[in-house]
Amino acid sequence: MSDYVKDLMSIVKAKHPAEPEFHQAVMEVAESLEVCFERHPEYRSAKVLERIIEPERIIIFRVPWVDDQGEININLGYRIEMNSAIGPYKGGLRFHPSVNLGILKFLAFEQVFKNSLTTLPMGGGKGGSDFDPKGKSDLKIMRFCQAFMGELFRHIGPNTDVPAGDIGVGGREIGYMFGMYKKLRNEFTGVLTGKGLNWGGSLIRPEATGYGAVYFAAEMLGTQNKTLEGKKCLVSGSGNVAQYTVEKILELGGKVLTLSDSNGYIYDEEGINAEKLAFVMEMKNVRRGRIKEYTDKYKKAVYSPIDPNGPFNPLWNHKADCAFPSATQNEINAKDAQNLINNGVFVVSEGANMPTTPDGVNIFLDKGILYGPGKAANAGGVAVSGLEMAQNSMRFGWTRDEVDNRLKMIMHSIHKTCVDTSERFGTPGNYVNGANIAGFLKVADAMMDQGVV
Ligand code: NAP
Repeated sequence: MSDYVKDLMSIVKAKHPAEPEFHQAVMEVAESLEVCFERHPEYRSAKVLERIIEPERIIIFRVPWVDDQGEININLGYRIEMNSAIGPYKGGLRFHPSVNLGILKFLAFEQVFKNSLTTLPMGGGKGGSDFDPKGKSDLKIMRFCQAFMGELFRHIGPNTDVPAGDIGVGGREIGYMFGMYKKLRNEFTGVLTGKGLNWGGSLIRPEATGYGAVYFAAEMLGTQNKTLEGKKCLVSGSGNVAQYTVEKILELGGKVLTLSDSNGYIYDEEGINAEKLAFVMEMKNVRRGRIKEYTDKYKKAVYSPIDPNGPFNPLWNHKADCAFPSATQNEINAKDAQNLINNGVFVVSEGANMPTTPDGVNIFLDKGILYGPGKAANAGGVAVSGLEMAQNSMRFGWTRDEVDNRLKMIMHSIHKTCVDTSERFGTPGNYVNGANIAGFLKVADAMMDQGVV
């Protein structure tokens, strides 16, 4: 690590203490950019990275709400408006008890680079709450979403900041929040993405992150003249990203062996086919059940609990070719990364944000496998959110094929940008450097053009 990165990190840690995920995200980008700064010292002297690290604005607010038993609850709400150099703030809302400022800042920081890579005009943001939707009635969810939007509406707008979903925020939550925004503002605008199809949503938005991560894996395989046909795949999570990752892998001829939730995972040696996936979707999206139920229905599959504090995650310890981490941050540690390599995995496409720890990333890079970091591999979701914004502005909707083709083209372009940029900066095949440097350059140039603001 250079003196520049060491100094930068000690300032970041002093200014933003107790935010390990944010430090981790900043450090990865800073290390990638060293080679860029050697060639372009003008970005360093203009302190562009130092400016990107500081959010343009952070909004933290109280969310008091009364549940269906008359009980008063108080949650914290956040919106990090990270960077608006290339467009309105854009990024998801996460509802999960683990949500805190550091986690949202890491996500907002990553979002800046990801959105830049999509080729669309979107700045970076992220937000959410420590509210836990798990096991709550629709009425409780609606009351919370309305209370949350009761404050957030002041800070967002179709040309200012356009939130979307993330962990714990799907179509249901976006609907309740959109309804409240519309009531408070008395206007019908594209202020959120991931909306329902008959009130401004885009076809393929629910599918986009998972489909995109698989398209990205297919692009990486293409560099070795290979395809997903017949490849064994490990997928973690069983939410939005995981479900559509499985759907696209099946369409491209791959075999999916695993799915998980925060309690445990299932291993199905026969493969999770379309019928089994439909069962999982109904169970997760309608009945809101646990992945363990899969083995009640499909007896040959095996369920194993996952200890979040254990030394490794057994899901990543099976023979396979490809891995699609699609649950949460830091779900692959160094031991998991080594297990994946030992089991023959040579493609990792990250549907989740920052699912691999820095030691794990170094193992993937040292071994030279096809490793697509989240910023690039999961950018399909926000890309189709950008397409939803474009359709809302035109008051016109594209067909499923039209949106899917645009998504495919965007993932192709992101992949090419990563490959070309990593080569140009002397680290061919390193998608981490490619994504970080290319994402940075577009934002940095815009910031240089716009002056110190
Ligand atoms: P989701 O629909 O809420 O599903 C999340 C899945 O991950 C669930 O199966 C959940 O299990 C599991 N999970 C969550 N926290 C976990 C933890 N601490 N340990 C183990 N498992 C955990 O969310 P999603 O939209 O699929 O998001 C998954 C990942 O993709 C996140 O990293 C998100 O930031 C990223 N991402 C999402 C999008 C998007 O468009 N939605 C776009 C880009 C990136 P439980 O049900 O037990 O909690």
